[in-house]
Parts: sequence; structure tokens; C-alpha cells
Amino acid sequence: MKTSKTPPSEQPSPNEIARQTARFRALIAKPTPERLRSLVSAGHKQFERSLAANPTRQPVACRMGCDHCCHLYVSATAPELMVIAEHVAAWPDERRDALRSRLDAALAVTRGLSPVERVRLSHPCPMLEATPQGGVCGIYSVRPLNCRAYASFDAVACERSTRERDPDAPIPVPKINMRTRRLLSHCMREALSDRGLDGDSHELIEGLSRTLAQS
Ligand code: SF4
Repeated sequence: MKTSKTPPSEQPSPNEIARQTARFRALIAKPTPERLRSLVSAGHKQFERSLAANPTRQPVACRMGCDHCCHLYVSATAPELMVIAEHVAAWPDERRDALRSRLDAALAVTRGLSPVERVRLSHPCPMLEATPQGGVCGIYSVRPLNCRAYASFDAVACERSTRERDPDAPIPVPKINMRTRRLLSHCMREALSDRGLDGDSHELIEGLSRTLAQS
């Protein structure tokens, strides 16, 4: 079916970036934990809205229990790490202790590795929990933008890339996912820096270990 809707260009425009950054900045006029939670929630909701408004012609192959992309380098902003740490704090002790053990084990082998080295290592994300369906993300509802963006049209390509540990293996990720992530992640970090807050990207395992130790 033909559609008259023009797909967004691959790169967000300077105007789009300025508008989105201003929206995020307004949300954290007072940088309280509540406002930072709102920032994360706004970013995640906007990501889902953008995907719903720009459906791909091809269906994505992602399904529960398929965890090939959960063996890669992931980064998150400080407010995203805070929200994940709060989510984990509500878990029963046993589940939280198991996560801490997996984080420690993962940290010992991944600390300081680049994204390319992480592909070659192919270490599972410590947030993965074993289920009868396969590995499932234990923090799915609060996973960072970078994880939300990672989807694929071809699970076989993902499997090949994980198995072969090849950072150049082609994965057909929907362009709208990458574009939206780029826009929202950039603007979130800009807004945080503008408010004098931590606008860096933190590697997920190291960042969450640190955040949990401080909480
Ligand atoms: S946080 Fe969740 S979605 Fe992201 S890599 Fe880890 S297990 Fe996968």
C-alpha cells in the first residue's frame, strides 16, 4: 500500500535537535530525582511513539528469549542508571544478589573493553535471566534507550554475528530505530550537560555496578 507520508531523513536536523533538547531541558529545570525520572520516562515514551508513527515495511524478527544483541557493548546515561537501580532495589534479596554476582563476574572480564572488543568477547549482559524461553532481560521495562533501539529484521544475521564474534557482520537494524535513538540520546545528554549535570554515556555494567554500590 502506498503512503503519502514522507519518511524522516536519516540524520536529525539542527532544528529538531534544538527543539528536543529544549523539551528535555525544561523537564529538568529542577534536577530532583523525580524530574530525572520524568526525563528518562519521557525519552523512552517518545522513542516508542516515534516507532509507532513510522512503522517499518518489513516485520522485525525480535522475540522474547532471543538475546543475540544482549552480548554487545551498551551505554546509558546517569539518570537511566538511576532508574534501573531503583527498579532493581524493589526486587527480592535473592534476585538482587544474583544480579550483583553476575555484574561482578561480567565486570571482571569486560572492564575497559571497547565496543569492538566486546563483540569479540561476546559476553552475555548480566541483566539477562534464564527462562524456559531463553535469556530474558530482567530490567526490560526500564532498559536504556540503546537497548530499545536494537532490533533486527533478520535473527539469523544476529546469530551469525554473535557466533562469529564479527564486529563487521551486517545486522539489518531498522533505520528509524537508529535515527530516533541518536536524536533522543544526544538531546538527553545535551540537556543534562546544559543543567550542569552528568551528560556522559556510561558503559552499562560498570555504570550500574557503581550506581548500585552508591545506593
Ligand atoms: S539491559 Fe536488557 S536489553 Fe539491554 S543488553 Fe542487557 S539484557 Fe539486553
